[in-house]
Amino acid sequence: MKQPKVHKIYNPIAECMERSERRKLQNERLRETVRLEYENVPLYRARMDAKGVKPEDIQTVDDLRKLPFMEKTDLRDEFPFGLLAADKKDIVRIQGSSGTTGKPIVSGYTQNDVEVWTEMVARAITAAGGGQDDIVQVCYGYGLFTGGLGAHQGADRVGAMVIPMSSGNTQRQIMMMTELGATMLCCTPSYATYLGETINDMGLKDKLKLKSGCFGAEPWTEEMRQKLESLLDIDACDIYGLTEIGGPGVAFECLEKHGMHVNEDHVLAEIIDPVTEEPLPYGTPGELVFTTLTKTGMPMLRYRTHDICTLTDEPCACGRTTIRMSRITGRTDDMLVIRGVNVFPSQIEACLVDLEGVAPFYMLIVDRVNSTDKLEVQVEMTEEMFSDKISEIEELRCRIAERIKSVVGISAKVQLVPPKSLPRSEGKAKRIIDNRNLH
Ligand code: ADP
Ligand code: ZN
Repeated sequence: MKQPKVHKIYNPIAECMERSERRKLQNERLRETVRLEYENVPLYRARMDAKGVKPEDIQTVDDLRKLPFMEKTDLRDEFPFGLLAADKKDIVRIQGSSGTTGKPIVSGYTQNDVEVWTEMVARAITAAGGGQDDIVQVCYGYGLFTGGLGAHQGADRVGAMVIPMSSGNTQRQIMMMTELGATMLCCTPSYATYLGETINDMGLKDKLKLKSGCFGAEPWTEEMRQKLESLLDIDACDIYGLTEIGGPGVAFECLEKHGMHVNEDHVLAEIIDPVTEEPLPYGTPGELVFTTLTKTGMPMLRYRTHDICTLTDEPCACGRTTIRMSRITGRTDDMLVIRGVNVFPSQIEACLVDLEGVAPFYMLIVDRVNSTDKLEVQVEMTEEMFSDKISEIEELRCRIAERIKSVVGISAKVQLVPPKSLPRSEGKAKRIIDNRNLH
């Protein structure tokens, strides 16, 4: 088995290096990653062979477009360890998120990968004004989800004092925040807003020491930023990431708040046309595609995120020389992000298929109430259920709600509606109504 090169870690200078220097590093790391993937990952080797591409055909970043893509479905199909490029004994961490159906997707991290990820988040926290004098309250969930541990590791790396609160229990969050004097906050922007509103309602705003925060894991808008900043009197910076590429910190905003710096010495970003799959120039919106350059556990080549944004190489006033990505303005697939959790309509469908009494028609309605996302799932009953088995409706409703909770990981309000009451469409079924107005 090919052994990966160990990369030097924690190099803040990498963010400000000359672009030509960085390009050399990227070329070198790309060649290394392609070889690792080709030799150790059968699925990807087969895909390169099918395209007639050999590792030696990939010499520089300009050759990237010769490589085949990877998709979330690959992680599901090869679940759990099929895409590992490293020996299983060298994997020190598993992180995961929900996949396109009931099966989760997991990524295996070597010690090197945990270090790289830590460094990326450390940069994000630094860029948001954080350092060793800070007290960082992490209220992303800890666990398989990369938010909690990611922010924790990054804050730890910059030498801050970390309060590992995890998510939920708002009263306790506020008590710790005020008593310990947290200066930075890491959580989803919607939860931060909810915290802010609660703190204002309780009249505790002047007890806060908060100055800034890294907020991400879900789409948000400039208006939400302004609201959050005034609620908590802070600088609110965006942070982007995904489990497959290395968790939060893949890209992050500096205090200029003008797009997210991509950690380009660790990942390559491309924008493609989602239909023709051709690369698009900077400034043109399209689908974001990532290639990891330093991951050794489960490296990803041309991984299609399905997130839509633009890239720019215009210089940033902060001095970092990396390209920046805009906010995510949408998705090319039907994935929703609800309270930071990825939700696909197909997962809901998987919860319904073998249940008696329901028809294959459903609708997801997402709303934001008091800064908290609410998911309502409407499911059509069969004629039989509706007319003859009224006494069983409540039981069926609870069963669906339980299944959704266990498969998707979030609670949903389930409503059973009469047969043929949901709208039918002639083309692609419309299964989502998103009232959150996120774009
Ligand atoms: P995370 O822990 O960052 O949520 P997941 O793998 O669970 O990682 O989900 C990744 C997806 O979450 C991304 O593909 C994107 O759709 C969404 N996401 C993550 N961060 C952001 C962000 N800052 N803005 C918009 N969407 C985001
Ligand atoms: Zn900047």
